[in-house]
Amino acid sequence: MPTNISEAYDVLVIGAGIAGCSIAYALKEQGQRVLLVDRSSVPASGGSGAAGAFVSPRIGKGGSLQTVTNEAFAYAQAFYREHAPEHFTPGGVVRIPKSSDDAERFVLYEPHNYPVYERWNSEDLAAREIVDIRGGFYFPEAGDCDAPAVCRTLAEGIDFIQLDVRKLTHTGDAWRIEGADRTLEAARVVLATGYQNDLADMRYMGIRGLWGSRGDYRTSTTLPVSLHKRLSVSSSRNGIVKIGATHVKHSHPCMVCDGQPLAGLFAEASDLVDTSDFVLKETFCGMRSTSRDHFPVVGEVIDVPWILQEYPAVTRGATVPLRHLPSLYILNGLGGRGFVFAPLMARWLADRIVSGREIPRQVHPDRLFWKWVRTLR
Ligand SMILES: Cc1cc2nc3c(=O)[nH]c(=O)nc-3n(C[C@H](O)[C@H](O)[C@H](O)COP(=O)(O)OP(=O)(O)OC[C@H]3O[C@@H](n4cnc5c(N)ncnc54)[C@H](O)[C@@H]3O)c2cc1C
Repeated sequence: MPTNISEAYDVLVIGAGIAGCSIAYALKEQGQRVLLVDRSSVPASGGSGAAGAFVSPRIGKGGSLQTVTNEAFAYAQAFYREHAPEHFTPGGVVRIPKSSDDAERFVLYEPHNYPVYERWNSEDLAAREIVDIRGGFYFPEAGDCDAPAVCRTLAEGIDFIQLDVRKLTHTGDAWRIEGADRTLEAARVVLATGYQNDLADMRYMGIRGLWGSRGDYRTSTTLPVSLHKRLSVSSSRNGIVKIGATHVKHSHPCMVCDGQPLAGLFAEASDLVDTSDFVLKETFCGMRSTSRDHFPVVGEVIDVPWILQEYPAVTRGATVPLRHLPSLYILNGLGGRGFVFAPLMARWLADRIVSGREIPRQVHPDRLFWKWVRTLR
């Protein structure tokens, strides 16, 4: 017998990574009563728990992905400073070119940089005990999060239950959420399940996983800033430096998290900083999820089976009206920047759910539908 939670909660959020915790928090801030569920008993058991959780701007030749990323970055660093200051380490991030070709591109990138930055040469880096002949861009507002602690902080005061959701169906005017050991009914649902997306037909979003690992090393090094090259190396905090990257194309998370993939990353980090006294303390592994076009996916979910049945000509290029599943929303596709995107994307989605405000087109899932139907021709 399902338990109808609509009397007690306005919204049910499935998934308690940084996406789920951020939308739960944003909805609570707007007076909504939220129930957060996850198959794990604690937040941040998925990709979010593995993340180095660096919060830095995007560099590149401009364009709307860079614009939205840097707007999200400005929002995120201020958000963490205000709402989770004890779990956000400021101090800045240096972006170092990956190669001499990349160094040439940095010259083209500079006019499009997030406005608060400095150009550091090899002497500036050496003064911080970082070895690189090419120098890079230093972004002083950037930093990194203690990922699980940030998720826990955002989820504080929000009701949380462990539920492995197996099936989601819409019956009458409610969603039926069938879990391993109980079934709930809720009026509104947000899906924040990371790379796993089998609860509704969301083929058109093309969300897929990329596997990565991180090692936390004990060291006496006092690295004052974080670095990004092909991998990320954090500043040192309480005698710990984090080294990590999402670097393995793999559709399934069941890879052995034994530190082996870290060996290559550690070797690369050793070219940048003195790692001679680094001792591996702990290894983390996880999947991050990326959409077809690398933008986040934030908003209503299209009723794909209904559209294909009612308007089969859509697969032959016809323009048809879109129909969304009632009160079903998604916050996903945050890529390698979950901790950058989540606070602003969550606010946009909460504004949509609570006040009906439009979500910017470039992150709304609808944009992916038209690209996907073209592939069916
Ligand atoms: C090694 C590594 C390093 C990274 N470094 C950075 C970085 O430096 N900066 C940055 O911003 N990002 C980084 N990322 C990316 C970042 O981790 C992701 O973008 C972010 O974690 C995505 O969050 P999420 O909430 O969407 O997904 P997840 O954290 O994976 O959360 C999804 C949650 O949904 C739950 N769930 C799934 N299906 C169900 C179900 N059916 N029923 C119940 N619960 C379910 C899972 O248990 C999980 O807790 C990194 C990722 C990795 C792996």
